[in-house]
Amino acid sequence: MIKKLRFKFIIINMLIVSIMLSGILSTVYIYTKKNIDTSAEAMIESLRFGPVMRGIPELDSPVGEMSFPYFCVSVSPFGFVNVYEGDYFDLTDEESLLDLVRLTLATEDKSGVLNDYSLRYYKEESFGSVRIIYADISGEISILNHLRTTLFGISIAAFIIFLAISVLLARWAVKPVSEAWDQQRQFVADASHELKTPLTVIMTDAELLQADDCDDEQTSTLSRNILTMSKQMRGLVEDLLELARADNGTTKAVFENLDFSHITDEAVLLFDPVFFEKGLKLESAIEPGIFLSGSETHLNQLLEILLDNAQKYCYPDTSVTLTLRRSGHHCVLTVSDYGEPISKEDLKNIFKRFYRVDKARSMNSSYGLGLSIAEAVVKMHGGQIHAESANGVNSFIVQLPVI
Ligand code: ADP
Repeated sequence: MIKKLRFKFIIINMLIVSIMLSGILSTVYIYTKKNIDTSAEAMIESLRFGPVMRGIPELDSPVGEMSFPYFCVSVSPFGFVNVYEGDYFDLTDEESLLDLVRLTLATEDKSGVLNDYSLRYYKEESFGSVRIIYADISGEISILNHLRTTLFGISIAAFIIFLAISVLLARWAVKPVSEAWDQQRQFVADASHELKTPLTVIMTDAELLQADDCDDEQTSTLSRNILTMSKQMRGLVEDLLELARADNGTTKAVFENLDFSHITDEAVLLFDPVFFEKGLKLESAIEPGIFLSGSETHLNQLLEILLDNAQKYCYPDTSVTLTLRRSGHHCVLTVSDYGEPISKEDLKNIFKRFYRVDKARSMNSSYGLGLSIAEAVVKMHGGQIHAESANGVNSFIVQLPVI
């Protein structure tokens, strides 16, 4: 699809360039030809009044006379042809001269071009005789031929240059689409992969349940497994839907003025028992009275993801710290824990969908979607999120605009 898009882009570009190039170059050609024609016509007309005499600047005096490539013919009322001026043309071949005169007399126009002879003519009638002036146009023809060759060369060179530029431009223009396409494909592949595992477990357990030798204890274990896996799948599907809505900008979020300090306090209270159960400590320093415009559901989701990750990934018997403070027009929420240091490479990728530092954790309903959802929520509120890892402490820092 991306290749097709790139190809179309190049074709459209080259079509526009070709139309413009041929327009410009043919205008140049037509304009030059017209100019040459006009001056040649003026010149041949001026020959009616006598031979052309040209001054040669290098010679002092007398003024040199230059022969001009033309000759005149007069045709008497009785049809006698007489050449009386000009000396450049081969006038010894009487037969071809008569052919030329006959051809000229047969034309209707007063002046014109005889391409076969490379001559321009001008004829006028007086007292029954016709006077014809012929001027050689092989110079003109050669200039125009040369111009045609040059313009053709220019158009080929310009076409090749523009083609190269178009290919580069197409690559540059299509790059974001190509990246989005790759991401989407990766997303679908990862989602299918993650859904396949619980589905396989559910199907196997269901098949075992149908077996005749399944006792009560086995039945209860298998149905418990099916329920657990189904819940995991529902969680994953909900996460996927949440991200798809964020991508489409169709997240159902009702924005209102909220006491974010209070919401954070509540989240800490909610998570306290979870931390206690695992032998962890949750410490918090929350500046009161921080208000912002946002969606309570989504902000709760954000706090939940960060606190859940902290208790999931910190070392045992350590404490997790949550701070919320005001900083200018923003508030800064930080969740820090002591855990396995996150490498620079992982810090760059940690917010990507399905990215997990420890891939083996997927079985534990860790699909690598939490931080992507957290990032989507933060962006939805016009804020920023990033992760830091230093001195054994991993911190997730969120900046949100306040009111
Ligand atoms: P998951 O469902 O796997 O937790 P997340 O998107 O929330 O997905 O996190 C992505 C990865 O980032 C996790 O797999 C984990 O390796 C790393 N991570 C997230 N939070 C923390 C944390 N507080 N400390 C250390 N690593 C973390």
